[in-house]
Amino acid sequence: MTTDPTTTRRPAFPGGTILGYPRIGRRRELKKAVESFWSGRSDAVDLEIAAGTLRRDTVRRLAALGLDPDDGSVPGSFSYYDQVLDVVALLGAVPARFADLIDPDDGSLEPEGYFTVARGRGEDAPLEMTKWFDTNYHYLVPEISESTPISFADHRIVREYAEAKEAGVTTRPVLVGPVTFLALSKAADDAGEGFHPLDRLDDVVAAYAELLRALAAVGAPWVQLDEPVLVTDTGDLDPERLRAAVATAYRALATDLVPADPAQDDADGDTETEAERPAILVATPFGGLQAPGRPAGGPDDALALLAATDVEAIAIDLVRGAVPTGAGPGGTVPGLATKTLVAGVVDGHNVWRSDLAARLEVAESLRPLGAGAVTVGTSTSLLHVPHDVDDETFDDGPDAGRLALDPRLRDWLAFADQKVGEVTVLARAVAEGREAVAEALAASSAAAASRRAATGVVVPAVRDRLARLSDGDFARGAHDERVAAQRARLGLPALPTTTIGSFPQTTDIRTARAAWAKGELDDAAYTTAMRAEVERVVRLQEDLGLDVLVHGEPERNDMVQYFAEQLDGFATTALGWVQSYGSRCVRPPILWGDVSRPEAMTVEWSQYAQSLTDKPVKGMLTGPVTILAWSFVRDDQPLGDTANQVALALRDEVADLEAAGIGVVQVDEPALRELLPLRRADQDDYLRWSVGSFRLATAGAAAATQVHTHLCYSEFGEVVGAIDGLDADVTSLEAARSRMEIVPELADAGYSRGVGPGVYDIHSPRVPSTAEVTELLRLAVKSIDPSLVWVNPDCGLKTRGYAEVEPALRHLVAAAREVRAAI
Ligand code: GLN
Ligand code: ZN
Repeated sequence: MTTDPTTTRRPAFPGGTILGYPRIGRRRELKKAVESFWSGRSDAVDLEIAAGTLRRDTVRRLAALGLDPDDGSVPGSFSYYDQVLDVVALLGAVPARFADLIDPDDGSLEPEGYFTVARGRGEDAPLEMTKWFDTNYHYLVPEISESTPISFADHRIVREYAEAKEAGVTTRPVLVGPVTFLALSKAADDAGEGFHPLDRLDDVVAAYAELLRALAAVGAPWVQLDEPVLVTDTGDLDPERLRAAVATAYRALATDLVPADPAQDDADGDTETEAERPAILVATPFGGLQAPGRPAGGPDDALALLAATDVEAIAIDLVRGAVPTGAGPGGTVPGLATKTLVAGVVDGHNVWRSDLAARLEVAESLRPLGAGAVTVGTSTSLLHVPHDVDDETFDDGPDAGRLALDPRLRDWLAFADQKVGEVTVLARAVAEGREAVAEALAASSAAAASRRAATGVVVPAVRDRLARLSDGDFARGAHDERVAAQRARLGLPALPTTTIGSFPQTTDIRTARAAWAKGELDDAAYTTAMRAEVERVVRLQEDLGLDVLVHGEPERNDMVQYFAEQLDGFATTALGWVQSYGSRCVRPPILWGDVSRPEAMTVEWSQYAQSLTDKPVKGMLTGPVTILAWSFVRDDQPLGDTANQVALALRDEVADLEAAGIGVVQVDEPALRELLPLRRADQDDYLRWSVGSFRLATAGAAAATQVHTHLCYSEFGEVVGAIDGLDADVTSLEAARSRMEIVPELADAGYSRGVGPGVYDIHSPRVPSTAEVTELLRLAVKSIDPSLVWVNPDCGLKTRGYAEVEPALRHLVAAAREVRAAI
């Protein structure tokens, strides 16, 4: 599986590769080992043994699946917690509050300290966590200032290279590149005015250079530096600054260090010079390096920028990004002739089996760019997909368990291991011609055809309903008429109090659900247990004096999976775990067909709760964008069409809730902002369909039905207009930590609907006092018309305990009464 040696300047580049592999373990071995270490049930040695076993099993498996074990095709992409935190550890770059966790001898972060930085201790808050580009993975945000220590402190990457080598596999160490690392960092609290983490680029690059020399010294032929920041133009970073940083960083790493001669590595380990390095692959997942519609070779063409450096290979995402164009002679990209292009044609971010013949054509369409060599890879790391389709059970018979998959899906899906297989087939096709793999190409095309034609993928009734939609279906009546109708119906006081939906998921609730899932508790007993919980929660809210009640969501395992399990067109896996952050994993549902709702999903619960009280009970739904964002979505139609299908199912649910006497319905869209495209040019279209789908879900509601939405963030930025566009009667948002910052922003934007800025930070076990909540509320009513303000926590309470929730809500109600009396 080697490429033509005459076209490559470096050691034969991987004939096919993946940009990274899941590291949590196919049976979540790492999760278990890490959590056992945290709880003190095992020690650092046990953890290292478990992790080492997992790493060796992983690289051997990748070799067995067809990646070349000798040339660096197998990525070394392990992490104990997070790949950005790994760079913090590599550099010893911890914020001052964690300085004591650094080993005084070598400046490295102690193994226990690594987790402490991630998880915090006592008053020392952990690094903030945020979404990794447009995935559902969360990374830790480094805090950098002028005085942050930065050196080549931690040698784990070098050790792991040697460990894999000993296990018989030559890996390609993978780490976040220096520019992306600093672009994603934030200025630490002790940073001076105007400081930007990129001010420390020289120090960071110097440490990377030392790492590269150390890797060359142990014979690593390749290293991969991930620079996804180059596919975005939506950050606040000045594009000029970013370009300059790329040029500086890769001059220091690729030009000033010389590629080691691989022939010498085998002969004699100590012939390397000090300034040698492995060949460098820069990977740019999650989008195109060229902004849509912008001229090739222009100042914002990041492919041209990388091609002008001395790195040996560039991996581009051809699933999310278009085939690039070149501004050189004949459409070539200047500088590319000495480089390998890794065509990321196998989707690393979704679970569908590739139509290999079609993907091959995309890879081959790179030829005119004039790269020295073209090879094939995944578009992103496989971190974002589960391990192995073969781990699932396929059965649609009458006795199939809840988590058995429709047997047809076996042929349509490709998880990480299947994708490795796809890469190796495509790489062979590129190297030897398509005849060499004719059978595999035909099989994948047949699978693609069977998926297209399968019952349930296209459901005419669903399509007809979508085709008949008109503008009126997306619009509710005039806002002031709704306000009047709702006031008459609900009779709420000023500053009404409510919660976001979930109440604590107690051990009792979890135990009952687990027993039910195992078949130890029958449906009737489970329902009885959950109803008892609903009643408890309703009584508690009455006692607390809340104005709009909820049923508490005890029956929901997860706010998306709960709906996916009840909607046609979705499948839910048994072992399809994907790392969300640290040791936390999720099993995203798979949306494979046209979506429809066989029967009501939430009505019985809400109706039961309403039957217990005279106060209004708020029905609780998850919105279409969030359902899509936290599922694997189909790749055969525009996302907006899929969103509208989900929206129609929810619209029917809203109608059923209304018919059951529910007068307030909340449609949660915490993910609205996280799907925001990484390129400005794509944002308008996204906001159009995402806001549209929310409106489609809710616009069928009568004027007297109060529609709420909940968004889980406080930085409006580019979405403030969209929030108004949702046309919800009341929007609740996170605001406690930012001290209601959002409220004046809304007022300035002319927002005139109900707003519930969170006054209780539910992310912390701290119970806010009545005085604190009162102060926040006063801030809110000072900056916006008090008649618009609602009083609620920041988010749902499911992760909290009653010991905190009860007093906190008592204080919230007391504060509302106090401020109410004063307006
Ligand atoms: N209604 C959901 C809850 O309260 C909302 C959760 C969320 O915003 N993530 O749990
Ligand atoms: Zn929330």
